[in-house]
Amino acid sequence: MKKSELLELAGPYYEEDQILELESAIDLATAAHKGQKRQSGEPYIIHPLAVAATLIDWGMDIDSVLAGVLHDTIEDTDTKLCDLEKLFGKDVAFLVDGVTKVSQARSGMHDLTEYLPQTKDNLSKLLIAVGQDVRVIIIKLADRLHNLSTLQYLPVDRQKKIARESLEIFGPLADRLGMGRVRMEIEDIAFRYLDPAEYKRLQNLMRRRLGKSTRKLGIVRQEVETELKKNGIQGEINGRIKSIYSLHRKLVKVGGNIDDIYDLMALRIIVETKEDCYRVLGLLHTLYQPMIARIKDYISVPKPNGYQSLHTTVLTHAEQIVEFQIRTYDMHEYAERGLAASFHYHEQKASKDYVKRRPGASSLPAELQWITQLQEIAGRLQSGEDIPDTQLSIDLFGNRIFVYSPKGDIYNLPEGALPLDFAYLVHSDIGKHAYSFRVNGSIHAFDKPLANGDVVEVITRKMSSPKPSWLDNVTTTHARTKLRAQLRQLGLLEKISHATSIIAQKAKREKS
Ligand code: MN
Repeated sequence: MKKSELLELAGPYYEEDQILELESAIDLATAAHKGQKRQSGEPYIIHPLAVAATLIDWGMDIDSVLAGVLHDTIEDTDTKLCDLEKLFGKDVAFLVDGVTKVSQARSGMHDLTEYLPQTKDNLSKLLIAVGQDVRVIIIKLADRLHNLSTLQYLPVDRQKKIARESLEIFGPLADRLGMGRVRMEIEDIAFRYLDPAEYKRLQNLMRRRLGKSTRKLGIVRQEVETELKKNGIQGEINGRIKSIYSLHRKLVKVGGNIDDIYDLMALRIIVETKEDCYRVLGLLHTLYQPMIARIKDYISVPKPNGYQSLHTTVLTHAEQIVEFQIRTYDMHEYAERGLAASFHYHEQKASKDYVKRRPGASSLPAELQWITQLQEIAGRLQSGEDIPDTQLSIDLFGNRIFVYSPKGDIYNLPEGALPLDFAYLVHSDIGKHAYSFRVNGSIHAFDKPLANGDVVEVITRKMSSPKPSWLDNVTTTHARTKLRAQLRQLGLLEKISHATSIIAQKAKREKS
């Protein structure tokens, strides 16, 4: 990637004065990185330019692209943040600073799972940067993607470390932001380095399978196309092939038999409107025999990261099992690009409001509430509060679910969350006086996890109050903190913390 190539790439999408800014950012970065080389022996500047090109490709706003060009200047050169602010404005400087902090945090990231003490500082840096502006993570993902694509130049142990970190942190982060395509790219490259033999094996397995079924699938596709036309539905049909890493994960889940996997190749139908999605589903179910347990309506109940589609698996006339995914063009755009789609250069003004609309979980769309939760945790870490590392990694990188209040308000919780976690998330007083729970209309035990899409009703009693045993019935940091504060107020905590510390000491002794 050269300066002229990047400018040419950007040309059609940004205003003239923005292109001029881009040009001066490239010049500044080129001068700053002068003499530095990548592991491949190429001049260093190709890296930030490639990152910026990716951000243009994702349709990001000009500030993100500028920050992409400048993202390594603070950490690796003599450039000062205040200079960037003078030249390119507060927003760009903030983004570069955020990306730099994430890089610094990154070196400590892996320790998160290995329980080393210095992790927390790094982690709070990361949390604060991400919490304030999600574009930081999007830039970081573009950075990571380019580093992965040039991984062959690094020694094997570094390759493995970066690959593992990508699978554990950056893949899930991309997923959390709804950036499906990026997540897939990151995971596939990383997995190829982490377990080359298994990657090869699955790739061959996939090829053999697809060879057999592609022709048959062509017939199904034609049948469906004809049916859509007959019913006057405009749209397109594409084949989508499962990624190698997602095949790997699924195989682990079903016990290793590829015959149990029905969506190696799926047909994707993209139509204009939501109504059309449901009409297509109806047509497919008239045409073929659906497998009842495999109909998923992610349009009316989106996945926690905002993904929407109808999924159905049917038995075709040739007795072939085929999965269909039906969605609108908008849903497709979101499924591929996720949150990056909100920062589109066409919608720059809108996206800025979006970024500024920060504090207060309720003002953020539900799929972004976790960002507010990150900020909250970051703040508590900064004020010196002790939160166990295991707890942090669950809160940050675990899968999320959505649950609903009876009024239809959406709440975002980590997978495995218990009813009390929900109660404390709604309000600490609701948690305090929780008496029993009704989930989807039925009584629900305190220790039974909630599932995605559950409607949760907390039944409170004025006389009901927190009990020490509840500490076993909360999983989130938020609920635990509120509950502990209430127990302390009631004078019920001292004994407990003493008991836990004895258990902890005992565990430590047994370990060593
Ligand atoms: Mn970089």
